[in-house]
Amino acid sequence: MSKVIDGKAFAESVRQDVAKQVAWLKDEHDITPGLAVVLVGEDPASQVYVRNKGIQTKAAGMNSYEHKLDTSVTEDELLALINTLNNDSSVHGILVQLPLPSHIEESAVIDAIDYRKDVDGFHLTNVGLLNTGGDGVVPCTPLGCIMMLKDRLGDLSGKNAVVVGRSNIVGKPMAALLLKESCTVTIAHSRTQDLPAVCREADILVAAVGRPEMVPGDWVKPGATVIDVGINRIERDGKTKLVGDVDYASCEAVASAITPVPGGVGPMTIACLLHNTLQQAARLHGVTLPE
Ligand code: NDP
Repeated sequence: MSKVIDGKAFAESVRQDVAKQVAWLKDEHDITPGLAVVLVGEDPASQVYVRNKGIQTKAAGMNSYEHKLDTSVTEDELLALINTLNNDSSVHGILVQLPLPSHIEESAVIDAIDYRKDVDGFHLTNVGLLNTGGDGVVPCTPLGCIMMLKDRLGDLSGKNAVVVGRSNIVGKPMAALLLKESCTVTIAHSRTQDLPAVCREADILVAAVGRPEMVPGDWVKPGATVIDVGINRIERDGKTKLVGDVDYASCEAVASAITPVPGGVGPMTIACLLHNTLQQAARLHGVTLPE
């Protein structure tokens, strides 16, 4: 088996599964899942993400609704739009593309979304459900990581997992998911002492730091599985290149499995967004999806 965990191929299989279940939901229950994506402002990276989300949502057979708002939109106007979407029965998932302009409080907007239509898993109710073993929506990026880990390693119980990074969107939910799988979990961050020694204990090492190629191969236990969440744009040899948070060449040499950047965690994130939208549509209508 290749050491490289092919996130692109895995994401394709997730998308195909979602498309099949969407077709079933339409045929059996006359329900077409709908995802509303709200974009505030002109940030070029956000525009690309939103466009890709729209294309993939439609390709899976779901309805995609895009709401593009000017940077000058007020928090009250944005909250009014969220309220309209909460009450729109054709919308099963609402995603507000982050970051938002500084005059708008992100947490106020996220928590205004009906948690049953929250497809990012950022709403406090879904955060609480994840951390108490409930059946809520799981944030897309960590969900993609745990799917790839289970696919590669099978049962994760008893493994030492180290997550470097403690953000609300990646590090913390990743740690919660690993704990749910009965791993022994350490969360490392910028104040962690002797980070190399902590990382060397990991059977599963997840890097979600946002620092290009920070983790070298000699921080990796031989045979460990390395999940690189980082997406960093750097200049090298006069060209712009995407690299992760781990130094791929040296880590690949010691790991038993590793996700590349690009082509690892990234493609799984949008596939999991489609998965979450489908799940929310089924939940909202009280339908149990086929296996
Ligand atoms: P944040 O900036 O929110 O969090 C980074 C975390 O890394 C913080 O907890 C911080 O610690 C920790 N950290 C920073 N420097 C160090 C250091 N020197 N040693 C140890 N820990 C450190 O980032 P995100 O979680 O949002 O994203 C992390 C990475 O994942 C980024 O590269 C981002 O682009 C990528 N990403 C990729 C996605 C995908 O789809 N593949 C989706 C989302 C993010 P502290 O809390 O102490 O400051």
